[in-house]
Amino acid sequence: MNAQNEGMSAPGDNRAPEVRARELRRARLRSRLADDGLAGLLVFDLHNIRYLTGFTGTTAVAAVLPDEVVLLTDFRYRLQAAEQAPDSRYLEVEQKVSSLLPELLEGVDGPIGIEDGLSVARWNATKDSLGDIEYRFAGGHVEHLRRVKGSEELESLRRAGRLLAQTMGSLAEGPVVGWAESQVALALEVYARERGSAAPPFDFIVAGGARGAMPHAEASAAPIEADALLVVDIGTAVEGYTSDMTRTFTTGRINEEKKRIFDVVREAQEKARRAARAGITCRELDAVARDVITEAGYADYFGHGLGHGVGLEVHEAPRVSRLSEDVLEAGMVVTIEPGIYLPGVGGVRIEDTVLIQEDGIEILTPLDHGWIRLS
Ligand code: ZN
Ligand code: ZN
Repeated sequence: MNAQNEGMSAPGDNRAPEVRARELRRARLRSRLADDGLAGLLVFDLHNIRYLTGFTGTTAVAAVLPDEVVLLTDFRYRLQAAEQAPDSRYLEVEQKVSSLLPELLEGVDGPIGIEDGLSVARWNATKDSLGDIEYRFAGGHVEHLRRVKGSEELESLRRAGRLLAQTMGSLAEGPVVGWAESQVALALEVYARERGSAAPPFDFIVAGGARGAMPHAEASAAPIEADALLVVDIGTAVEGYTSDMTRTFTTGRINEEKKRIFDVVREAQEKARRAARAGITCRELDAVARDVITEAGYADYFGHGLGHGVGLEVHEAPRVSRLSEDVLEAGMVVTIEPGIYLPGVGGVRIEDTVLIQEDGIEILTPLDHGWIRLS
């Protein structure tokens, strides 16, 4: 079945598209659970809860049962749950979620899966209430479904990506040299939020000169210098869906070594974009970019994976790395982000969020990949 048809309606079906989309997700989940010998699943991860119910509050548990999905949350969310999750049964928690579980799970025929990302403290508070109920830890089921996006999700991901590329492009408008990295990061965040992004999914990276050699450098109070490399890694979130993008700029003249690492990373990223399609393994795709960097002599300076899945979370399945067992499928959204990081010199990373298709990709963060000089 093609997940991209999620949300399409049959004639006479006038339910909201998101309700139809969730019905399909729940059917797929129940089928996975059945294959795993489970009669239901207790969902604790808030992104998974949003995916299955539409609920965006910060306190909830969802129970996926054979005939219904039950959303357990408290009084603060009574109205919000009714509005966002009309297709889930709302169960109000007055004291502890655990006190409601025995009755809720009483008639379920077979073991219940428990998402295994919950904290030890939460688990300790939950397990005693399970009594005789048969259960087993079962993580990753919803995350697995979330890898392939439906058409509704793709629309949000496209909007997030376009806004992100526009935000990155806005850097060319104003001066950055002499500004603190953190000022530039804030200006980019304001730009994105004024145009429809929610709070960004991570702290923006604006790393000038030698600081760019730290792949996850925080934007600092240091002023951006002329004649240096500048790594900018930013993200947006639209309708809950994120996007992730990096460009490396120059702030004037740079030496041959820096030009060379830029050209190598650009070639690695372009080759990986050309190779990316349904059917290639994540490990193979990582190797396409890594081989370019290795042949140029910089293998030791590309120490992270090529990319990661993007969706409700900015880092989600699948991982695109040497260690990944995943195969790319049409409808997956991943980043392609090779980099070279030279201590004491600087760094280059080029990153796009892309949609995997049968015969190639759609770049969700469209912006030039060549040299862009900022002043
Ligand atoms: Zn990034
Ligand atoms: Zn990334």
